[in-house]
Amino acid sequence: MAEGRGSTIWFDVDYAQRNPNDMGMAIHESVHLVQAFGNCPWWLTEGIADYIRYFRFTIRGDESKKPRKPGNGPKGWERGYGDTAFFLNWLTQNKNRRLVPSLNQKCHDRQWNDNVWQQLTKATAQQNWDEMQRSARDMGSPFSNDVVAYLLRTKSCVV
Ligand SMILES: [Zn+2]
Repeated sequence: MAEGRGSTIWFDVDYAQRNPNDMGMAIHESVHLVQAFGNCPWWLTEGIADYIRYFRFTIRGDESKKPRKPGNGPKGWERGYGDTAFFLNWLTQNKNRRLVPSLNQKCHDRQWNDNVWQQLTKATAQQNWDEMQRSARDMGSPFSNDVVAYLLRTKSCVV
Protein backbone atom coordinates (compact mmCIF):
# COMPACT_ATOMS: atom_id res chain seq x y z
CA MET A 1 0.00 0.00 0.00
CA ALA A 2 2.76 2.41 0.92
CA GLU A 3 6.49 1.87 1.05
CA GLY A 4 9.44 3.98 2.01
CA ARG A 5 13.02 3.76 0.82
CA GLY A 6 15.53 6.27 2.07
CA SER A 7 13.76 9.59 1.92
CA THR A 8 11.24 8.54 -0.75
CA ILE A 9 7.73 7.16 -0.22
CA TRP A 10 6.04 5.23 -3.03
CA PHE A 11 2.28 4.80 -3.10
CA ASP A 12 0.56 1.98 -5.00
CA VAL A 13 -1.84 4.07 -7.08
CA ASP A 14 -3.77 1.02 -8.38
CA TYR A 15 -4.51 0.04 -4.80
CA ALA A 16 -5.48 3.61 -3.95
CA GLN A 17 -7.92 3.72 -6.87
CA ARG A 18 -9.55 0.44 -5.81
CA ASN A 19 -9.58 1.35 -2.09
CA PRO A 20 -9.92 5.11 -1.78
CA ASN A 21 -11.22 4.79 1.79
CA ASP A 22 -7.88 3.30 2.88
CA MET A 23 -5.93 6.43 2.00
CA GLY A 24 -6.22 7.69 5.54
CA MET A 25 -4.29 4.66 6.74
CA ALA A 26 -1.71 5.25 4.03
CA ILE A 27 -1.22 8.79 5.26
CA HIS A 28 -0.93 7.62 8.88
CA GLU A 29 1.67 5.00 7.96
CA SER A 30 3.52 7.43 5.71
CA VAL A 31 3.98 9.78 8.64
CA HIS A 32 5.68 6.95 10.55
CA LEU A 33 8.06 6.41 7.65
CA VAL A 34 9.30 9.97 7.81
CA GLN A 35 9.24 10.42 11.59
CA ALA A 36 12.53 8.58 12.26
CA PHE A 37 12.27 9.64 15.90
CA GLY A 38 15.24 9.40 18.24
CA ASN A 39 12.97 9.28 21.28
CA CYS A 40 9.26 9.88 21.51
CA PRO A 41 6.50 8.36 23.64
CA TRP A 42 4.27 5.98 21.65
CA TRP A 43 1.16 8.07 22.24
CA LEU A 44 2.76 11.18 20.73
CA THR A 45 4.10 9.21 17.73
CA GLU A 46 0.58 7.89 17.05
CA GLY A 47 -1.07 11.20 17.89
CA ILE A 48 1.06 13.09 15.37
CA ALA A 49 0.31 10.48 12.68
CA ASP A 50 -3.44 10.84 13.28
CA TYR A 51 -3.16 14.65 13.48
CA ILE A 52 -1.62 14.69 10.01
CA ARG A 53 -4.22 12.22 8.73
CA TYR A 54 -7.33 13.91 10.10
CA PHE A 55 -6.49 17.58 10.57
CA ARG A 56 -4.06 18.37 7.74
CA PHE A 57 -5.71 16.57 4.83
CA THR A 58 -9.11 15.92 3.35
CA ILE A 59 -9.37 12.19 2.83
CA ARG A 60 -12.38 10.68 1.12
CA GLY A 61 -14.18 8.34 3.50
CA ASP A 62 -12.32 9.58 6.59
CA GLU A 63 -14.73 12.27 7.73
CA SER A 64 -16.87 9.93 9.82
CA LYS A 65 -13.75 8.63 11.61
CA LYS A 66 -12.38 12.08 12.40
CA PRO A 67 -11.58 12.46 16.12
CA ARG A 68 -14.25 14.15 18.19
CA LYS A 69 -13.64 16.06 21.39
CA PRO A 70 -12.15 13.50 23.83
CA GLY A 71 -13.79 12.61 27.11
CA ASN A 72 -12.06 13.87 30.20
CA GLY A 73 -9.93 11.69 32.45
CA PRO A 74 -6.40 11.49 33.82
CA LYS A 75 -3.71 12.33 31.28
CA GLY A 76 -6.14 12.13 28.36
CA TRP A 77 -3.54 13.55 25.99
CA GLU A 78 -1.51 10.37 26.49
CA ARG A 79 -4.24 8.09 25.12
CA GLY A 80 -2.66 8.34 21.65
CA TYR A 81 -4.33 8.30 18.22
CA GLY A 82 -7.49 10.40 17.93
CA ASP A 83 -7.54 11.86 21.45
CA THR A 84 -3.95 13.06 21.18
CA ALA A 85 -4.57 14.27 17.61
CA PHE A 86 -7.55 16.37 18.74
CA PHE A 87 -5.40 17.86 21.53
CA LEU A 88 -2.56 18.66 19.11
CA ASN A 89 -5.01 20.33 16.72
CA TRP A 90 -6.55 22.42 19.51
CA LEU A 91 -3.07 23.50 20.68
CA THR A 92 -2.07 24.35 17.11
CA GLN A 93 -5.13 26.54 16.65
CA ASN A 94 -4.98 28.19 20.06
CA LYS A 95 -1.40 28.21 21.35
CA ASN A 96 1.31 27.59 18.76
CA ARG A 97 0.80 27.20 15.04
CA ARG A 98 4.22 25.52 14.74
CA LEU A 99 3.57 23.09 17.60
CA VAL A 100 3.58 19.80 15.69
CA PRO A 101 6.67 20.57 13.59
CA SER A 102 8.43 21.65 16.80
CA LEU A 103 7.39 18.46 18.64
CA ASN A 104 8.52 16.46 15.63
CA GLN A 105 11.92 18.13 15.70
CA LYS A 106 12.36 17.56 19.44
CA CYS A 107 11.49 13.87 19.11
CA HIS A 108 13.90 13.53 16.23
CA ASP A 109 16.68 15.30 18.13
CA ARG A 110 16.18 13.22 21.31
CA GLN A 111 15.04 16.31 23.22
CA TRP A 112 11.59 15.05 24.20
CA ASN A 113 10.59 15.45 27.85
CA ASP A 114 7.51 16.65 29.70
CA ASN A 115 8.85 20.21 29.81
CA VAL A 116 8.35 20.70 26.06
CA TRP A 117 4.70 21.63 26.67
CA GLN A 118 5.81 24.55 28.85
CA GLN A 119 8.43 25.56 26.30
CA LEU A 120 6.10 25.44 23.31
CA THR A 121 2.74 26.48 24.80
CA LYS A 122 3.62 28.36 28.02
CA ALA A 123 1.54 25.86 30.01
CA THR A 124 1.76 22.27 31.18
CA ALA A 125 -0.01 19.48 29.33
CA GLN A 126 -2.53 19.23 32.19
CA GLN A 127 -3.25 22.98 32.11
CA ASN A 128 -3.72 22.86 28.33
CA TRP A 129 -5.89 19.77 28.56
CA ASP A 130 -8.14 21.38 31.18
CA GLU A 131 -8.44 24.55 29.11
CA MET A 132 -9.32 22.51 26.02
CA GLN A 133 -11.98 20.62 27.97
CA ARG A 134 -13.54 23.92 29.05
CA SER A 135 -13.46 25.65 25.69
CA ALA A 136 -13.20 23.24 22.78
CA ARG A 137 -16.12 22.45 20.55
CA ASP A 138 -16.21 19.71 17.98
CA MET A 139 -14.84 21.39 14.89
CA GLY A 140 -15.98 21.29 11.33
CA SER A 141 -13.57 20.38 8.59
CA PRO A 142 -10.63 22.81 8.28
CA PHE A 143 -9.19 20.82 5.39
CA SER A 144 -8.03 22.25 2.11
CA ASN A 145 -5.96 19.53 0.46
CA ASP A 146 -7.40 16.47 -1.23
CA VAL A 147 -4.73 13.78 -1.07
CA VAL A 148 -6.56 11.27 -3.25
CA ALA A 149 -7.04 13.74 -6.08
CA TYR A 150 -3.39 14.70 -5.82
CA LEU A 151 -2.20 11.09 -6.01
CA LEU A 152 -4.44 10.24 -8.94
CA ARG A 153 -3.20 13.30 -10.79
CA THR A 154 0.49 12.66 -10.17
CA LYS A 155 0.47 8.80 -10.07
CA SER A 156 3.13 8.85 -7.40
CA CYS A 157 4.07 11.13 -4.58
CA VAL A 158 7.44 11.99 -3.13
CA VAL A 159 7.04 13.36 0.36
ZN1 LIG B 1 0.57 4.32 13.82
